[in-house]
Amino acid sequence: MTTPTTAEVGRGSREPPVVEIDGFRGWLISADHADYDLARAIWNGAIDRRPRLIARCIGTADVVAAVRFARDHDLEIAIRGGGHNVAGTAVCDDGIVIDLSAMRAVRVDPADRRAWVQGGALWGDVDHETQLHGLATTGGIVSHTGVAGLTLGGGIGWLMRKYGLTVDNLLAAEVVTADGELLRASEDEHPDLFWALRGGGGNFGVVTSFEFRLHSVGPAVLAGPILWDAADAGEVLRFYRDFVRDAPDELGTVVRFGAAPPLPGIPEDLHWRPVVMVGTCYAGPIEDGERVLRPLRASRTPLLDLVGPTPYVGWQSSLDSAVVHGWNYYWKATHLPELRDDLIDVIAEHAFSCSSPRSYVAMFHLKGAVSRAAEGGTAFGNRQASHAITLDAVWLPGENFGDQDTAWTRGFFAALGRFREGVYVNFLGGDEDPDRVREAYGDAVYDRLAGVKAKYDPDNVFHHNQNIGPREMKARTVAT
Ligand SMILES: Cc1cc2nc3c(=O)[nH]c(=O)nc-3n(C[C@H](O)[C@H](O)[C@H](O)COP(=O)(O)OP(=O)(O)OC[C@H]3O[C@@H](n4cnc5c(N)ncnc54)[C@H](O)[C@@H]3O)c2cc1C
Repeated sequence: MTTPTTAEVGRGSREPPVVEIDGFRGWLISADHADYDLARAIWNGAIDRRPRLIARCIGTADVVAAVRFARDHDLEIAIRGGGHNVAGTAVCDDGIVIDLSAMRAVRVDPADRRAWVQGGALWGDVDHETQLHGLATTGGIVSHTGVAGLTLGGGIGWLMRKYGLTVDNLLAAEVVTADGELLRASEDEHPDLFWALRGGGGNFGVVTSFEFRLHSVGPAVLAGPILWDAADAGEVLRFYRDFVRDAPDELGTVVRFGAAPPLPGIPEDLHWRPVVMVGTCYAGPIEDGERVLRPLRASRTPLLDLVGPTPYVGWQSSLDSAVVHGWNYYWKATHLPELRDDLIDVIAEHAFSCSSPRSYVAMFHLKGAVSRAAEGGTAFGNRQASHAITLDAVWLPGENFGDQDTAWTRGFFAALGRFREGVYVNFLGGDEDPDRVREAYGDAVYDRLAGVKAKYDPDNVFHHNQNIGPREMKARTVAT
């Protein structure tokens, strides 16, 4: 099942809106509209919220009008970029969704190596336009993830060890604040706001446009997955730990534990077999990548090795069909230190004990340029962690795996307790203790964020998110 693109939802939907918003030219979609159910659906099919109004904006002026309207009518606000966040914060009950999904334009200046990206774009949009010039910036590893939410939480991906997080490549952003004012934030303009936007999430306003620094990448990179049998998980992880410790920054890896999904290139006899899969991407000359990856590819005779020269833009969408819109998802996540033997034992013991063939675990190798940037230089916390892990329960609508695999993620998470080292805010679910948001930043960054929040959103208008309350005010949870 795939969700139609938002442009398809919007097109042909010029039925008379139930309400008018002064100065608004986009689509207003309320419960009696034919497209209402499609328009309120997000990536996580387990989220079923019914907003009073969805304001699908077609430009910055629409966003300003929608924020002012919401304030005037005291409406709860949810902001939708790509609609991909597992916590479902892009949609609220009863209030207004400020929906940027029709604002997906990307403009590239190849000479200056910059891209301007609208606030509703997906990573596939950015890669498509930037790769035309052999350029890229760090983005997510699934092409239908939104640029806005990902960037505002930090942004990890294949290129981060070489080029830093997505926020490390952010040069400026245009933001509609809680007062409905349009500001530009950069190192020179509202630098406090610019600092907070680079990790602090959607707490500070609606970002209508991002300006990114680009780098030479591809168009072909050495990339692909290597698969080993699940029974070898412990040995593979021990080898992997030693291998990535000295790996050059050019090499990005993500380990996936779970049944092999029927992705292109994976032969049928391996489909749904429990495997450890190490996804790789070398952001440098292909011959160098071949040399760097040789030991990993030779270790313990893999079941399958699909590493080879691959178009970067294709590799960026190679996992898309394993995490489809409309399936049900529940995640727990944490950062981890280097993989000690006792930590590897815990991972190997729990990673394959889920019930649904679609549930999986993903572990991103961090370090490199991520941890060389100064802690506190942006609002992204825990830069020294080695790995970011998500434990992902996945079940299809109508399947009964939800309770069992939700319990599996919680049990696995508890077992990781003594190893935990913070968390990536964008991997937090919707039912987390608010203290976990503080955990994502650490006390110093969180308290500084609360100060910036008090300046730009003192009434906590933007609270339907992983909330940072203005200083002196309690943070709210998604459910409140
Ligand atoms: C399958 C999958 C793969 C992922 N892979 C990666 C990955 O490789 N790297 C990574 O870093 N993360 C990854 N993530 C996490 C991802 O960063 C978050 O889900 C992120 O929130 C997605 O952004 P979005 O715009 O789609 O979010 P949405 O669901 O649209 O919004 C989430 C929140 O972001 C804020 N927000 C969204 N748009 C705006 C805006 N224009 N202005 C202000 N605030 C806004 C709001 O607070 C909103 O509640 C992945 C998630 C999934 C589900």
